[in-house]
Amino acid sequence: MILLNPGPVNLSERVRRALLKPDLCHREPEFAALQTRIRDELLASQGLEPRRWAAVLLTGSGTAAVEAMLITLVPRQGRLLIVENGVYGERFSKIAQAHGIASRALHHAWTDSVDLVALERALAEEPFTHLAVVHHETTTGRLNELSAIAARCRPHGVRLLVDGVSSFGAEAIEFEDWGVAGCAATANKCLHGVPGAAFVVVRRDCVPGADTAPRSLYLDLRASLREQDGGGTPFTQSPQVFYALEEALAELRDEGGRAARRARYARLAQQVRVGLSALGFRPLVPEEQSSVVLSAFRLPSGLSFERLHDGMKEAGFVVYAGQGELAKRHCRVSTMGAVTEADLERFVAAVQAVIERS
Ligand SMILES: *Cc1c(COP(=O)(O)O)cnc(C)c1O
Repeated sequence: MILLNPGPVNLSERVRRALLKPDLCHREPEFAALQTRIRDELLASQGLEPRRWAAVLLTGSGTAAVEAMLITLVPRQGRLLIVENGVYGERFSKIAQAHGIASRALHHAWTDSVDLVALERALAEEPFTHLAVVHHETTTGRLNELSAIAARCRPHGVRLLVDGVSSFGAEAIEFEDWGVAGCAATANKCLHGVPGAAFVVVRRDCVPGADTAPRSLYLDLRASLREQDGGGTPFTQSPQVFYALEEALAELRDEGGRAARRARYARLAQQVRVGLSALGFRPLVPEEQSSVVLSAFRLPSGLSFERLHDGMKEAGFVVYAGQGELAKRHCRVSTMGAVTEADLERFVAAVQAVIERS
């Protein structure tokens, strides 16, 4: 089955085989070494300096990393401005509410780009300490303009908390230039690992001290950072998932690193856009505002998502519905993972066959 949903992704044989390495106890030095190699490689893949930055690994899904980032990096006296233009921006607000973090949402319709004038106004009105924003809003395929957003935050000393779950490993993240305090991501999207490991890349001097009570025990990044710097972990990690992540990072490096992966995704996304546009699908977001990771399309008239999904599943492909109001008339196609040009040629031909049958 070819997975064109935005994670989990199809594994390469190389990554799949890594799952079969020997059992490990998470309290033994072999596990500590594995964890340290992954943390180092995550930073190296972004060109980050380990004295200034740290990757904190969690066993959990991407949302665990996003939640850990917000509840650890926004201090008790902090104020969070949240950019919402999709499901994942709105998830920040749910997390802030669940933990009583002082926050305000800058709400947009899901199809809208971020209103920089409204952002400037909000920043001038309240003394925010942090701004939470989704880099690639997987709801619509929009790549939010983080450099323009960061430029508005900089004069106010507001630091960025980035949901990079569906961009880390492919789209460029300017950690230093954008004033990033933390970026949450996961093993099983653009990095091509298996689900179960997530992480936050934190700027070390943006992690609050341990003098205040944690908002959560499991998701407190301060404790994990301290233990992981010493080769330990406060809780059980998943060694198999870590083996796979280590292999996936080695594969990324062998393929030329992040920029090469982005270039590959761009070619595949273009192939999907050209193929589906010819069949009457219409892109939801203009190409120049879209990520290379995923594209959302309005379905051609007369084709329901159910018929597309079921017909494509029979042909060996999983396509993804839109979310919420976009569910009925839209689909999303992601080309992360071990997917080839030849797979996508077969995909477009199979979509054509479904349309012709319907
Ligand atoms: C996938 C995704 C998440 C996390 O989803 P999980 O199901 O918790 O892994 C968060 N943010 C974005 C932008 C995503 O695409």
